Amino acid sequence: DNNRFQSIISHAKEYGFVFPSSEIYDGLSAVYDYGPHGSELKKNIRDYWWKSMTQMHENIVGIDAAIFMHPTTWKASGHVDNFSDPMIDNKDSKKRYRVDHLIEAHADKLKEKGADGEKQADELLATMDQLLANDDFAGLKKLIEDNKIVCAVSETSNWTEIRQFNLMFSTQIGSVSDEADTIYLRPETAQGIFVNFLNVQKTARMKIPFGIAQIGKAFRNEIVARQFIFRMREFEQMEMQFFIKPGTQKEWYDYWKETRLKWHLSLGIPADKYRFHDHVKLAHYADAALDIEYEFPIGFKEVEGIHSRTDFDLGNHQKYSGKKLTYFDTEINQHYVPYVIETSIGLDRMFLLILSHAYEEETWTKEDGSPDSRVVLHLPPAIAPIKLGIMPLTKKDGLPEIAREIMNTCKPHFRCFYEEKDAIGKRYRRQDAIGTPFCITVDHQTKEDQTVTIRHRDSMQQERIHISEIKAKVLDLITL
Ligand code: ATP
Repeated sequence: DNNRFQSIISHAKEYGFVFPSSEIYDGLSAVYDYGPHGSELKKNIRDYWWKSMTQMHENIVGIDAAIFMHPTTWKASGHVDNFSDPMIDNKDSKKRYRVDHLIEAHADKLKEKGADGEKQADELLATMDQLLANDDFAGLKKLIEDNKIVCAVSETSNWTEIRQFNLMFSTQIGSVSDEADTIYLRPETAQGIFVNFLNVQKTARMKIPFGIAQIGKAFRNEIVARQFIFRMREFEQMEMQFFIKPGTQKEWYDYWKETRLKWHLSLGIPADKYRFHDHVKLAHYADAALDIEYEFPIGFKEVEGIHSRTDFDLGNHQKYSGKKLTYFDTEINQHYVPYVIETSIGLDRMFLLILSHAYEEETWTKEDGSPDSRVVLHLPPAIAPIKLGIMPLTKKDGLPEIAREIMNTCKPHFRCFYEEKDAIGKRYRRQDAIGTPFCITVDHQTKEDQTVTIRHRDSMQQERIHISEIKAKVLDLITL
């Protein structure tokens, strides 16, 4: 629900996860900055994806291509001609909408009206999918008018015609203005992989089937970009292109669909929060496509796409560049342009998913009957920004010195946070709020028997362990 979503956004800002970009100038629409805990969490998600894809798959290697690419890249990829969304303006409110989002928002409202509404919503969405698939803009406009879909900010439905809006940002490269060429900020990382296909295949001596993974920034001038980091104009993608023999795309599509879902579940997120959504309207490059959707507080939404891209990209790059992009398959003694299965996930969207899953406001009654509460992030320990809080119970009696020693032993191995200020309960709460899975407290007993308490974030239970056990125990608990 929307309240929960707003609480998550506030929490993300208050605890240094995500800030609006250039906030002192009132922000920049749909652009965000990651703070100290946010950048750490984002890095941990990124590293986990990278390790799962490259280190754990012997036939997948990585690259790091430039954001700027030769302008012909985007002709060949079809983005110059096709990478656009249908847009409509409300003449009275002067508000602009992406057509499918406008209709989807209306369907969401219908769904709140019980079984009948849900049926209407499903029919509406099915009709929309068909019309979108045919690029039938007149039909879409009629659908909006027939369903009396109104603009969110006013009760009028006085609409302009629907037109295509290209999402690519352009800029000039070169210092002399009349020689400068228009180039684009990449709207996806995939093309950097395709143009390097042979470089990678040859230098890493890869044999089909094999994959190339890449993580990097992508830019899209989204028509309406609200919903926090769900839809941004500058964001980060984690993409993998898997090159295969033509004709095997169905089996590899199924393989990656299941493999990617398993990756999500490996983070401890329950399966009922996920579902697959098959595309009716296929992108210009695909012969099959689906979204992995997650139940965000704003409803089931796409977090990752699996696309069967055929030989569309390599074939077109071959045509536009005049360079051969074929592979010689020694098993069948044939040259061919490989087919491609793509897995594409937004790092920022995955971050939002993790945060949405982790965020909880807990209240309970203490033994003495008084109420208590906390906000806690149940982050998977392996990706939490800080793994271990280290706290001397008091600032005196030599306790800080012992805590400092523990800090020095542990910090080369995982991220620790030392704190001696405020009451211990308050310190625990601050760690709960940023998702620190474990806290060590050094107390007076430590001086007698070299044991400390380790507190578990989720259960709030504490146990005593020997100082010498801390490092190994935490390392064990934060391994996925
Ligand atoms: P939509 O239809 O919602 O605009 P899309 O189908 O165009 O999205 P893809 O091109 O498949 O998205 O992009 C792959 C992934 O990149 C998405 O699943 C999503 O996680 C992420 N992504 C795409 N656009 C954005 C954005 N504007 N902000 C954040 N992440 C994005």
